[in-house]
Amino acid sequence: MRRVTILGAGLAGCEAALQLAARGVTVTLIEAKPAKVEPAVYHLDGPAELVCSNSLKSESDATPSYQLKEECRIAGSFLLRAADTVKVPAGESLAVDRDRFSEATLGLLAAEPGITYMQNTAVDSLDALRERFAADLYIVATGPLTSPRLLASLSADNHYFYDAIAPIVSAEGLDLTKLFWADRYEKGQPDFLNCALTRQEYDRFVDALLTADKLPYADHERPQFFDRCMPIETMAERGRNTLSFGPFRPVGFEVEGQRPYAVVQLRAENIERSAFNIVGCQTRMRQQAQREVFRLLPGLEQAEFLRYGSVHRNSYINAPELLADDLNLLKHPDTYVAGQLSGVEGYNESIFSGLYTALAIVARSEGKTLPLPPAATMSGGLLRKLRAKAARFAPVNANFSIIDNPTRLRKRDRKLFHVADGVRQFREWWDNNLGERDIKD
Ligand SMILES: Cc1cc2nc3c(=O)[nH]c(=O)nc-3n(C[C@H](O)[C@H](O)[C@H](O)COP(=O)(O)OP(=O)(O)OC[C@H]3O[C@@H](n4cnc5c(N)ncnc54)[C@H](O)[C@@H]3O)c2cc1C
Repeated sequence: MRRVTILGAGLAGCEAALQLAARGVTVTLIEAKPAKVEPAVYHLDGPAELVCSNSLKSESDATPSYQLKEECRIAGSFLLRAADTVKVPAGESLAVDRDRFSEATLGLLAAEPGITYMQNTAVDSLDALRERFAADLYIVATGPLTSPRLLASLSADNHYFYDAIAPIVSAEGLDLTKLFWADRYEKGQPDFLNCALTRQEYDRFVDALLTADKLPYADHERPQFFDRCMPIETMAERGRNTLSFGPFRPVGFEVEGQRPYAVVQLRAENIERSAFNIVGCQTRMRQQAQREVFRLLPGLEQAEFLRYGSVHRNSYINAPELLADDLNLLKHPDTYVAGQLSGVEGYNESIFSGLYTALAIVARSEGKTLPLPPAATMSGGLLRKLRAKAARFAPVNANFSIIDNPTRLRKRDRKLFHVADGVRQFREWWDNNLGERDIKD
C-alpha cells in the first residue's frame, strides 16, 4: 500500500495526509474549496479551517482536552504544532489566529513532496472517488457538513445532530469604555474582553432573545443538539437563569469590588485583536435579530458583525455498526472515515482521528493491526466509544467519563492524576508500538 486518496482537507484530512506522507506514503488530498461547499459555514479558501470558535480548548493540566492534545503531541501531530505557532492570547486555552492556522497548514502540505493537494475538486460519492482518484486506500474526511449524496454512498445507517456557531464582531464597533480586559479568577493574562451585566441588563437581553425572530427548522427535522453547541436561545428557553449559570456565569470576576450579575466574554479572533467571537452565543436568530439582540449588551451597541451566528445539521456515521476494528468501513474495506464524520466531535478530536487513521493505515500496510491505546488514555477512550454498541450512538468528545483508570483518589487530586497518568500511559504505548522509527527525516 503506497497510495492513499483523502477526500476533504479539513482538520482530520490534513493531519492524516501529513502523517502518511511523513511515513513515505503517496497522498492525493482532494478539497472542494474554494468552491463553496456550505457557504454559511466555510469562509476561508484554505485547508484546515476552524469553522466556529478559534479555540482548541484548555491547556490546563487537569482537563480532558489538554490530555488529548498532549497525547496528540506525543504522537507528533502536525496540526497542533502548527497551532502552537499561531496562538492568540486566550487565558488557559489554546486559541489560534484561524487565517494563519490555515496558512501554516497549507505551508506544511506544500512542503511535503509526497502530497498532491487538489483544490476546487468536489467528489460526491465513494464510487466517483475511486474512479477519478484511484488509490490503494481511501479516507473520507469531509466533516460534519458532508453532502447527503456522499454520505449515502458510505452507508444508509447515518445520524445527525444540530450545531450552532457564534457571531464574530469587529473591534472597531466595540465601546472599550464599557468593557474590561480580564481572565476568570485572574488566573492568567487578562486575555478576554468582558461585558458585565446588571440583573436589569441581563433580563432585558434574555427577554429580547426569547422573542427574537429565529429561523425555523424544516418539518421533517428533529432538532437534536450536542450539549456544548446549543443555541443561546434554546438554553434561555430552558430557564431564565440558564445563561447566568452557563456561558454568562460571572464567577471569578469583580467589577468595583462586586461580582456582576452576569458576564459575556469576547475572545480575540486574531493576533491583531481586530475581531472578537462572542463566546457561547451560538444562535439561530435571523441576522436582523442578531444585530438587535447583541447590540443590547453594554459596549456592543454599535457592534459590526463580521460573521453572523448560524445553525447547521451535522452528519456522522453509526460508527459502532459500520466500522471494523481497524476503523475502516466493514462494507468497504478499502475505505476509512476520519474526523467528525466518523463519530468524534470537536477540533482536537478530529485532529486525533486523522492522526490515528493514518497510523492504522501504515500498520495495515505492514501486515499489522495497531493496538488500541490504553483505556486510561483519552485517545483510547475515544476509540473505544466508536466501537461500543449503543441503542443510539452519539458523537463522542474528550471527557473524563470515557477513560478508565482504576486508581482511586480523592476528588481534588483525581483529575490531575488521571491526566498525568493517561499521558504517561500513552507515551509508553507510543514508544512500544510506534515511536519515531518509521518517520522520514
Ligand atoms: C457549525 C459548526 C461549528 C463547530 N464549532 C466547533 C467548535 O467551536 N469547536 C470544536 O471543537 N468543534 C466544532 N465543530 C465540530 C467539528 O469538530 C469541526 O467541524 C471540525 O472541523 C471537524 O473536522 P473534520 O476534519 O472532520 O471536518 P472539516 O474540518 O469540516 O473538514 C472537511 C473538509 O472537507 C471538505 N469537503 C466537504 N465535502 C467535500 C466533497 N464532497 N468533496 C471535497 N471536499 C469536501 C470541506 O470543504 C472541508 O474542508 C463545529 C462544527 C460545525 C459544523
